[in-house]
Amino acid sequence: MPLLAQRLSRIKPSPTIAVSQKARDLKAAGRDVISLGAGEPDFDTPDSVKEAAMRAMRSGDTKYTNVDGTPALKKAICAKFERENGLRYAPDQVTVGTGGKQVLYNALMATLNPGDEVIVPAPYWVSYPDMVALAEGTTVAVACPPEKGFKLQPADLEKAITPRTKWLILNSPNNPTGAAYSRDEMKALTDVLVRHPHVWVLTDDMYEHLVYDGFEFVTPAQVEPRLHDRTLTVNGVSKAYSMTGWRIGYGAGPKELIKAMAVIQSQSTSNPSSISQAAAVEALNGPQDFLEGWVSSFRERRDLVVSMLNQAKGISCHKPEGAFYVYPSCAGTIGLTTPGGKVIETDEDFVTYLLESEGVAAVQGSAFGLAPFFRISYATSMTDLEDACQRIQRACGALR
Ligand code: PLP
Repeated sequence: MPLLAQRLSRIKPSPTIAVSQKARDLKAAGRDVISLGAGEPDFDTPDSVKEAAMRAMRSGDTKYTNVDGTPALKKAICAKFERENGLRYAPDQVTVGTGGKQVLYNALMATLNPGDEVIVPAPYWVSYPDMVALAEGTTVAVACPPEKGFKLQPADLEKAITPRTKWLILNSPNNPTGAAYSRDEMKALTDVLVRHPHVWVLTDDMYEHLVYDGFEFVTPAQVEPRLHDRTLTVNGVSKAYSMTGWRIGYGAGPKELIKAMAVIQSQSTSNPSSISQAAAVEALNGPQDFLEGWVSSFRERRDLVVSMLNQAKGISCHKPEGAFYVYPSCAGTIGLTTPGGKVIETDEDFVTYLLESEGVAAVQGSAFGLAPFFRISYATSMTDLEDACQRIQRACGALR
């Protein structure tokens, strides 16, 4: 009897984690590598948040908590949704998990039956289709090319909906493209959803605070209150407060769904770290002034990267509204030959060439469901970004 379960054959390890690992291995072997693969801000967690964690440890907040979050954190989350998004939730409509990832996973595990369809605009965050597959659902990917701003079009959404559609997953600002929906664009999508009452909305708002040039962030239940009772609004402290290692994410939605998600969590991980929960209370309730500096620093980096990549031969880079990624097309390099004599046939060939020739680590677009592109995370220093973009320009210039 084989050791491994059949379910494992439905999924693959995260390709973004694989690229980061490859870059670390090359660095350890002495290569000069700039990694643009990271999915996390390069800033430190604010001191006030760390202090709150230390206070929690000292005062004995070191034991099991309620499975899906402490009352204090749920209260802080309700206040955040009301203050920032105009959404009213009671504490029993809120769940806390070990990262936004666990909240998404719990939701899909708690709701999908074999064959249920989940509409996922592509390019998408790498984990959605694999989580859907683990929960025995079927991903219906809808292509969103750069000509459409990498955004789902209402007519394409309408076409993708079938009687088996359970969820639409929206992610704005988006990983890997940085695209974010304006109020009008979001309203056009929610108008379609209002006409299909059997479709639930899973909105992943992890990058809410990272938007530039005065862009107004909106979330579906805020734009269309009629969707409030069939929307799970997911968010977390990982990206906005540079707390990726603390592992706290949260979601809000109808009580029945939230309760079911807690059952899944109670039989897998139980509560997220008590100390991290105390820290997250401070992140949500405490001063938010550091965010402005982070956002302006990210915007400066985005502008540098977009401008330098558009000067690279064969590369065309769309300027996104938010997050800390860009998703340039490498279509102009396909069919060209490297100085080593290898023909670039796919975006995977292209990123391999970048890593081997110039030591720049990026992630191939095929991992995110739309090729030929590559994802660059600009959550690193201006010096490294400038150096990396020069290397990319040099690598592209050397193709024949
Ligand atoms: N959703 C998106 C779009 C992400 O990019 C990420 C992290 O990369 C997550 C969810 C998961 O966040 P967390 O680290 O809180 O689990």
